[in-house]
Amino acid sequence: MNYEVVIGLEVHAQLKTNTKAFCGCSTQFGQEANTQACPVCLGFPGSLPVLNEKALEYGIRVGLALHCQIQKLTKFDRKNYFYPDLPKNYQISQYDLPLALGGFLEIELKELRKRIGIHRAHLEEDAGKLIHEGDHSLVDYNRAGIPLLEIVTEPDISSPDEAYEYLVSLKAILKYLEVCDCDMEKGSLRCDANISLRPQGAKELGTKTELKNLNSFKAVRDALSYEIKRQKELLESGKRIVQETLLWDESGEKTYSMRTKEEAMDYRYFPEPDLPAFVIRDEKIQAIKDVLPELPEALKKRFIAQYGLSDYDAGIIVAEKALAKFFEATLRLYPKAKLISNWLIGPLSYELNSRNMSIESLSFSVESFVSLLTLVDEARISNLAAKEVLTQMCNTGASPEVIVKEKNLLQVSDAGELEGIADKVIAGNEKSTADYKSGKANALMFLVGQVMKLSEGKANPKVAQEVLKKKLEKWGKDA
Ligand code: ADP
Ligand code: MG
Ligand code: ZN
Repeated sequence: MNYEVVIGLEVHAQLKTNTKAFCGCSTQFGQEANTQACPVCLGFPGSLPVLNEKALEYGIRVGLALHCQIQKLTKFDRKNYFYPDLPKNYQISQYDLPLALGGFLEIELKELRKRIGIHRAHLEEDAGKLIHEGDHSLVDYNRAGIPLLEIVTEPDISSPDEAYEYLVSLKAILKYLEVCDCDMEKGSLRCDANISLRPQGAKELGTKTELKNLNSFKAVRDALSYEIKRQKELLESGKRIVQETLLWDESGEKTYSMRTKEEAMDYRYFPEPDLPAFVIRDEKIQAIKDVLPELPEALKKRFIAQYGLSDYDAGIIVAEKALAKFFEATLRLYPKAKLISNWLIGPLSYELNSRNMSIESLSFSVESFVSLLTLVDEARISNLAAKEVLTQMCNTGASPEVIVKEKNLLQVSDAGELEGIADKVIAGNEKSTADYKSGKANALMFLVGQVMKLSEGKANPKVAQEVLKKKLEKWGKDA
C-alpha cells in the first residue's frame, strides 16, 4: 500500500529581548548559573509577573510576517506540570486565546511553491536547564522565564525535505525580523516534529508520534525519515501506531520512546490570575506593520527584477540577511551584480564555510572587497590569484593591494613579457605543438595551461593565448 506522509512542526523561538518575559532579569547567554534569577522567575510567593512589552512586540512582528491574524483579545494561562527545571511548577503560556492565529509560510520546492499553514503562534516562558552529572543533576534557572514564541504549523508538510525547507525559511524570516538568534546549538531555536502516515487519498489523519530532542535541521530531517520507515513497517505488518513522544538518538540514528500519550500529563490549564486578559489596539499592530523589514521573499523578487540575478543566485543571497546586506553594500560601490554575486556565492562562501564563520564576522570591509573585485575585473590579477588574495584577506584583514604587492601577484598582460615563456613552452612540448598544427584545437589550451604554470599563475590567459597562437602560426615555417 502507498502511504501519504503527514507532518506538523512546533518551533520554539527564543525572543531576543534584553530582559525576561515577566521580570527584569537579564537574558544574556553564557553567564554563571543562577545569577540571572529573581523572585518572579523563581516563582516565590507574593511576586507578580509583568509582561515584557518587547516580547509582545516581537511576537506580533512574527505573527504579521507569517500572515496570521493578530488576536485583539489575548491572555496568558498556566500550564501546570512538575519538573525540576520549572521552579513555579507551572509555565506561563497561552492556551485558548493565543497571540496569533491562522497564517502561512510559503516554501520553495524544486518545481513549485507550497503554502504551509500556520495554525497558531503564542507567547510563553522558557524553563530552566538541567545539567546531568554522574549520579546527580544540577539546575540553572538563568533560562527560566526567557520569552519564547511557539509557532505551530498545520499538518501540511508532506516529507522530511519539506520540513527542512520550512525550517530554513522560518529561520530566515526570524533573522530578518531580528527577533531571534536562531542558534540551535544554544537552544534559541528548537523544533518538535509530529508525524503520521495514512493510506494515499485517505481523509482522516493517522495516529501521530511526536519527535523531540532534534538538535539541528538535519536531525529533524533524519529523524522524520527514520520514523516514516518505522511507522510504515508497523502498518504493513498489520500493527497499529502507538501515540507517543519519541526521542531522537542522533548517534544511534533511531528514535526511542519517552512517554506514551496514555500516561501523558494533564496540564490543567487555567487563566493566569496575575496577568489579566488584554486588548491589543489596532494602532499598535499597524505601527509594528509599518516598520516590518523587507522579508527574504520580497527581497529575492527585488534582486531578480532590479539587478537581473538568477533565481538561484538570488535565493542563496537572500537566505542570509547579512549576506544580502553585504551584497547590496558592495553593489552600491561597484554596480556589477553578477560579478559580485559570483564572488559571494563562490569563493567568499567557501572561505566562510571552511572557517565555520558568518559574514558578520568578516575581518575586512566592503571597500576592501570592492578593491579585490576591481583588481580581477580589470584583469590586473588572475582569478586564481584573486582567490589567494581573498584567503589572505580573511586570514589577516590586510588590503588586497598590500597582499598583491607582497606576494607579487600582479598579472602579466604584456605580450612582450610573455613571449619568452611562450617560446620555452613551445620548445618543451613538441607533441602538443605538432597536434595543434595538425588541427587539434584542444592542444592550444594545454599550451596556455603550461604558460600559466611557468608564470606561476601570473600570465593573463587571454594574452598568453594570443601570443601562443601567433608563435604557432610561424612555428615550423622558419624551421
Ligand atoms: P498535541 O495536542 O499532541 O500537541 P496538536 O493538535 O497541538 O497536538 O498538534 C501539534 C502539531 O502536530 C501540529 O503542528 C499539528 O499540525 C501536528 N499534527 C496534529 N495531528 C497530526 C497527525 N495526525 N499527523 C501529523 N501531524 C499532526
Ligand atoms: Mg503540542
Ligand atoms: Zn527574574
